[in-house]
Amino acid sequence: MVTVEANAKINLTLDILGTRPDGYHDVEMVMQSVGLSDIIYLERREKGISLQIDVPELPTDKTNLAWNAAHLFLDVYKIQSGVSIKIKKKIPIAAGLAGGSADAAGTLIGMNSLFETRLSKKELCKLGEKIGSDVPFCIEGGTMLATGRGEVLRRLPDLPQLFVVLAKPPVSVSTAWAYKNYDKMGSTRHPDTNAILSAITTGHVEGIEKALANVLEEATMKAYPIVEEYKRILTENGATEALMSGSGPTVFAIAREKKDMEHAAAMLSHAYPDAAIFVVPTVKQNTIS
Ligand code: ATP
Repeated sequence: MVTVEANAKINLTLDILGTRPDGYHDVEMVMQSVGLSDIIYLERREKGISLQIDVPELPTDKTNLAWNAAHLFLDVYKIQSGVSIKIKKKIPIAAGLAGGSADAAGTLIGMNSLFETRLSKKELCKLGEKIGSDVPFCIEGGTMLATGRGEVLRRLPDLPQLFVVLAKPPVSVSTAWAYKNYDKMGSTRHPDTNAILSAITTGHVEGIEKALANVLEEATMKAYPIVEEYKRILTENGATEALMSGSGPTVFAIAREKKDMEHAAAMLSHAYPDAAIFVVPTVKQNTIS
């Protein structure tokens, strides 16, 4: 049996540079892996793909991204046997944390070791981008600049060890809806990507915090004022800045000291007991065996 921890991601920045002829958006985003993980267990079986997940909300058929990843892997590498996959879901669903992409990435990494195919991260990323734009980042992990649809990646220096508070209000936001909403309403604030890149290069945490920005935030906050409310509570309780991750609605803040994020988390949980709240470390790139 092979076990893989599939990490969630946050967007330290998310900018939209334009719309492409294929309907996707050209993005520019700084992505960071965080230690909130689904656990994926993979075992060989004689034939076919069996998928079990410990939450009822998710499909376990071919519409699940992990199933999709397993199918693609078996097909491309002409593997005759099948695979049984079990997922312990910890990453909130439709949260802006790339939970589905993380499961697809973790499945590809796990299959590579289960079937001893010895593919490099680059080769796995080529497969991963067929499943979703965030899958290559989830295979690589760590801190990266993503452009194109999100699949063109450049590794950035590791951040100093930071702690992240993640808080998801009890609403789900579809990625497609968030992008459509942005197309209608735009954003008055775009990230200064050069500023965050130089803050990351020099390990200047306050510079990173100052540069946190997401063009999807404004339009999403209009429809879901709870996002703004969570940001307010975090910044009034120790966080220098707070930002919505990806297409939302999860809000996060970062700090060097874990206790600062635990304090902000406790205050938010007091105000909103139905929030899903986690305090986790930032994590470095994945190693592939
Ligand atoms: P992103 O940050 O990439 O936009 P997200 O965190 O907003 O992603 P996900 O949790 O990845 O959203 O889920 C988006 C949709 O993908 C869900 O509505 C779900 O039905 C579908 N999905 C398919 N497979 C999975 C999976 N293994 N885990 C979570 N969602 C999945």
